[in-house]
Amino acid sequence: AKSGGRGAFRFFEPELDQLMHARRNLERDMRDALAGREFELHYQPFVNTATGEIRGFEALLRWHHPRRGLVLPGEFIPLAEEAGLIVPLGEWVLRTACAEAAKWPAHLRIAINLSPAQFRSKELVPVIVDALASSGISPHRLELEVTETVIMHDSEAVFAALGQLRELGVRIALDDFGTGYSSLSFLQRFPFDKIKVDRSFVNELSSTRADAHHLARAVVRFAVSLGKTTTAEGVETKEQLDVLREEGCVETQGYYFGRPMPASAIAKMLRRGDKA
Ligand code: C2E
Ligand code: CA
Ligand code: CA
Ligand code: CA
Repeated sequence: AKSGGRGAFRFFEPELDQLMHARRNLERDMRDALAGREFELHYQPFVNTATGEIRGFEALLRWHHPRRGLVLPGEFIPLAEEAGLIVPLGEWVLRTACAEAAKWPAHLRIAINLSPAQFRSKELVPVIVDALASSGISPHRLELEVTETVIMHDSEAVFAALGQLRELGVRIALDDFGTGYSSLSFLQRFPFDKIKVDRSFVNELSSTRADAHHLARAVVRFAVSLGKTTTAEGVETKEQLDVLREEGCVETQGYYFGRPMPASAIAKMLRRGDKA
């Protein structure tokens, strides 16, 4: 740590030090966690908006830290990206989720989140091909969720990878729609099959503020108008669901239908034949 300098800077130094220290620890712990069995996938259903039937599940990563307890991806994914651990971690997610989906009825899809760094790895397409082959699931059952930041980095390579995956029959979903800076020309060029309207807009569908409600509705309507399968994430109320149905949103996902659950709970639910 620097001595001298401006007083205000010095005032924050111990805190900053602590923060850096905590981050380094978390990174080191994550390397151990990958080797051990501390990561787990939870699965959240997405349903057909009109009928309520389950169409598939999104895999969401959880970390059971030996001392800190449950750590959510919002905290460790950015660290994993910085530390270069997202590629091996992402590969584990792909293989585990495909293997789990192989146990479900064959009409159900599996959606997996991918980080931009995974697209920069030459191994992505071969790993996906191998995860599909060793699990035995059809490529048509796999959906890969990416945010628009994925192509801001290295668009040529990413476009090539997306094209190869779609040729295999894998679906590409644009995640967190409405939160980025996508231009209309980007949306026309980006090769995707499905749009997931961000939770923040879905939440505003039940807003009592007219302007917030109208903006949210406009985002949903715009997504639907692009002619891809539209999904809404974060649906928590009947009121939100009713608007989405009215606007022609094809699929919905959120606590209203089910929280992310461990694989064993999903298997049990599917055996009972529950709707959601
Ligand atoms: P996301 O892909 O946008 O996932 C949706 C998030 O919203 C999940 O948070 C989910 O648990 C939560 N959610 C679902 N329904 C509701 C609802 O009705 N209300 C509310 N309040 N929340 C709801 P989670 O599991 O904490 O994941 C956060 C983010 O971490 C994900 O956002 C995704 O970007 C990232 N992530 C999760 N798993 C993975 C992974 O395996 N790989 C990568 N690269 N990223 C992942
Ligand atoms: Ca997602
Ligand atoms: Ca999302
Ligand atoms: Ca998100």
